Amino acid sequence: MSKNLTSRAEDYSKWYNELVVKADMAENSAVRGCMVIKPYGYAIWEKMQAELDRMFKETGHQNAYFPLFVPKSLFEAEEKNAEGFAKECAVVTHYRLQNDPDNEGKLRVDPEARLEEELVVRPTSEAIIWNTYKGWIQSYRDLPILINQWANVVRWEMRTRLFLRTAEFLWQEGHTAHATEAEALAEAEQMNNVYAEFAENFMAIPVIKGLKTESERFAGAVETYCIEALMQDGKALQAGTSHFLGQNFAKAFDVKFTNNEGKLDYVWATSWGVSTRLMGALIMTHSDDKGLVLPPNLAPTQVVIVPIYKNDEQLKQISDLANTIKNDLKALGVSCKFDGRETHRPGAKFAQHELQGVPLRIAIGPKDLENGTVELARRDTLTKEIVNLDGLPTLISKLLVTIQEELFNKALNFRNSHITKVETFDEFKDVLENKTGFISAHWDGTPETEQKIKELTKATIRCIPQDGEEEAGVCVFTGNPSKRRVLFAKAY
Ligand code: AMP
Repeated sequence: MSKNLTSRAEDYSKWYNELVVKADMAENSAVRGCMVIKPYGYAIWEKMQAELDRMFKETGHQNAYFPLFVPKSLFEAEEKNAEGFAKECAVVTHYRLQNDPDNEGKLRVDPEARLEEELVVRPTSEAIIWNTYKGWIQSYRDLPILINQWANVVRWEMRTRLFLRTAEFLWQEGHTAHATEAEALAEAEQMNNVYAEFAENFMAIPVIKGLKTESERFAGAVETYCIEALMQDGKALQAGTSHFLGQNFAKAFDVKFTNNEGKLDYVWATSWGVSTRLMGALIMTHSDDKGLVLPPNLAPTQVVIVPIYKNDEQLKQISDLANTIKNDLKALGVSCKFDGRETHRPGAKFAQHELQGVPLRIAIGPKDLENGTVELARRDTLTKEIVNLDGLPTLISKLLVTIQEELFNKALNFRNSHITKVETFDEFKDVLENKTGFISAHWDGTPETEQKIKELTKATIRCIPQDGEEEAGVCVFTGNPSKRRVLFAKAY
């Protein structure tokens, strides 16, 4: 493999796959569609998890864990949900292997060990969870239940891509139960807001909050809130979803409660999730032809120090200085690593940290020791300068804040300059071919029109933006009246 990445302009998709592998984040595995997340990629995911987990707990949620397997009879109880996921389900039919008498040294499924009831490997956990909630909820005093679980799920995807779409993926799924419709709706919207806040403040990714159309909605949901982001190649990515499930699951699993007036009613539900797809969003939003660019708030290492030396004496002096800098930074809450590996030359270290997106690099050489300076390089802008040791920690801590803001603003400018209002279907097609990005257009509100546009252009309705205003117009495709614009785009 060559050292350099394929450029984005040359082949965006190849650039992405190479970057993920070369930055040591993940690789394909022996299992089709399933990835191995390597330590560096996992460290970034852990930072995301930690922050989201904190936000969930701040909004009153607790973590719990439910089984990986869902008995088929439970899975099929909520018909729409079952129908929506059926095509992507892995199913366990047997529980034992045995030596194959016809094929020495090989194993086969023991035909005697067929499960009485087949088990679906969860593609999502509403069924098993609502079957459990049934035993937990009797009266309004048992509500609300505000639970999240960190787990893996399996959806047998045909076209997979590292992080963005895998057959097994890691995620969190919130599952809440409420006494009233209003409360459940507020919860679904609140969690979508939490996702948006996380995307913008930590991932430095601007997102559009909105509602899905009926055909893009989660199977079994009454309403799906979502956050949509725009990648550098002009394609949209669904970054998170939060569902108002109405009483659908409560009815399917017969979960009733006595309300405060003493009457029996079905419980109201929500579910919400973000997955390792967020890793893909992070990479595709900020990175460049030299590799990963990480927002400081999610970088496992925010500052790396590379020594440049000719002899052991110099290395010793630089190491001592690096240690002081590291401790000063630690006191300011900045993570810093000293890359003292004697097996690698400084050039190789520079290249690796660039590829892995470490936001700031400090290089210290013999001249710096004499002058009381260091060389400070920014990964996002690829600029470097000589700075004084005096006040370095404070400078760095401020600079990290600046980098975080500038990455967000850059992505925001790109996103905003890639939202195009169109009035006709010719304009619509022209944007898709020449400019890409989101298309803001009137739509007549029918699934038929949505489907036809999708067939003709591959563009789908990403969302009905929440902050969009009512505006009378005519559908770009049928000319029928429309009350508001929606956002179309080609999407991952
Ligand atoms: P859903 O349960 O379909 O609403 O999806 C929950 C979250 O998981 C959303 O943020 C999706 O974008 C994401 N997601 C769905 N399918 C996959 C997949 N195959 N790989 C990674 N993430 C996914």
